Amino acid sequence: MGRKFTLTEENYHSRAARRRWLSSSDVKAAKRCESAWLADYCGKIKHEENKPAFAFGHLFEAALTLPGPQYHRYLAAHPELCSSRGPTKGQLRAEYAAAPELAHAVRRSPYLWGIVRRCKKQVILTGELNGMPVRCMMDLVDRDGSIYDLKAMRSFLPIYDTAREEYLDWWAYWNYPIQLYIYREIARQNGLAVPRVGLIAASKADCDVQALAFGDEIMQAAAADTAYTMQRMAQILAGQEEPTACGRCAWCMSRKRITEFEMI
Ligand SMILES: [Zn+2]
Repeated sequence: MGRKFTLTEENYHSRAARRRWLSSSDVKAAKRCESAWLADYCGKIKHEENKPAFAFGHLFEAALTLPGPQYHRYLAAHPELCSSRGPTKGQLRAEYAAAPELAHAVRRSPYLWGIVRRCKKQVILTGELNGMPVRCMMDLVDRDGSIYDLKAMRSFLPIYDTAREEYLDWWAYWNYPIQLYIYREIARQNGLAVPRVGLIAASKADCDVQALAFGDEIMQAAAADTAYTMQRMAQILAGQEEPTACGRCAWCMSRKRITEFEMI
């Protein structure tokens, strides 16, 4: 600590940055499974299997927000996105082909395209929340300080939450209100007004687009969720509390030991 560290798009996801500041991803991960979050925080989880989904999301953002020449430079810098042989050589691989189509679906609404065009992109800010240092990188920050996150979703169908044993709206399942709440608080600490926070999302399943703003009630619930989860994280990092294992995620599954039969 104390040494000067300037966060950039390049070092934002580095180990050094992760050690120094928490992010909304940490809070969302800890809310889902404290044990998996701690393992990841301590560098015990490899992320290979998540790569295609990550790459798809980044490609969607690039196709939506970058001007033509910059977008082509982005593609040139990521040869893994394009097929390297056969008649499709140089074109996007099949699993990524939908990303620019989703970007186009967003651009089709002049209202949304206007917002995307005038917003500042990838705004990095730091602050402190619930006593812990936090960093965030916001996809879009509007002139009035409103914050929007871009999401490429598999679909907009409700998702079954095994912990809560109920179907949740896609944005609730992924805890996006917590993410936007954290963005809003850190932005306000940095002098922005943030009259509105929301998502601009497109669905791979049917190319549908949704623009959702989170109202006061949802933000209040997100504030309480964030405070509780971050308090647990602080206690776990201080060694005062043991992380709780959800018993259902990939990390918990990888450590599962059967000791008896389950009577059904
Ligand atoms: Zn788990």
